[in-house]
Amino acid sequence: MSYEGAIYRPPSEANSLILQVTVGCSHNNCTFCSMYKGKSFRIKSKEEIFEDIDNYSHDIYTKAFLADGDAMLLKTDLLIEIIRRIRLKMSNIKRIGIYAHANNLKTKTVDELRLLKKEGLNIIYVGVESGSDKVLEKINKGIGSSEMKKQLLKISESGIKLSVMIISGLGGRKLSSEHAIESAKLLNEIKPKFLSLLTLMLEEGTEFYKEVQNHKIELLDPEEILLETKLMIENLDLKNTIFRVNHASNYLSLEGILNKDKNRILREIEVAIKNKDYIPEYFRRL
Ligand code: SF4
Repeated sequence: MSYEGAIYRPPSEANSLILQVTVGCSHNNCTFCSMYKGKSFRIKSKEEIFEDIDNYSHDIYTKAFLADGDAMLLKTDLLIEIIRRIRLKMSNIKRIGIYAHANNLKTKTVDELRLLKKEGLNIIYVGVESGSDKVLEKINKGIGSSEMKKQLLKISESGIKLSVMIISGLGGRKLSSEHAIESAKLLNEIKPKFLSLLTLMLEEGTEFYKEVQNHKIELLDPEEILLETKLMIENLDLKNTIFRVNHASNYLSLEGILNKDKNRILREIEVAIKNKDYIPEYFRRL
């Protein structure tokens, strides 16, 4: 496989073959994110992508993941060709996942998404980050919550599994409650199959970092992060959503099915707060 720059993938794709179909992120403008800052966005050519697939025709992987930041920007026809090529060359691949910015989904109709599902696209990962318009605007996400909802409902309608990520602490102290409550509201409407919480990591050189240095944003401490998580979970009303807080950035690991395990998860948060039982700062990473 040939990769340009650092490659990122969701924790649940740790054992997947990562195929880089785009380089960087076409938005590349979120104030807290430095992941693709060093890369100019481009879509790899079909020849480059096929060469990667053909040169890596081993049967050791059962899952494939299409990167970078918003691989869903590719035209549907090209995505179908890529999926077919993967399945042709690697017969053990049973599941294909992809990253998408919610704005990328504007380029896809529900019928196109259904077609992609039929071809073998099983899961789409979207960094929702927050359901609060105030937070989304502040971090320069490039999309508001009502458009986000409209685009993400298309995924559920198509039958493709939707996995979303929310970032704890993203609203700072001032918008912490708003971030928790509005994120819960959006999640209740889109009802994702998977919900992951990451915790904000402050990265030098980002706009967010500068705002913290200039005292425009106050960061949450571990207890405040967990109180924010608790408030969000209290406001969630989901059915069979697989909830995971298992990223290296988190202060506490949690998992369960929502709403079924809601009370148990809330109790675990309360116990962690009472005992100040947090994963130490030096263990946290992106
Ligand atoms: S958070 Fe996602 S959309 Fe925003 S700049 Fe980073 S990769 Fe791009």
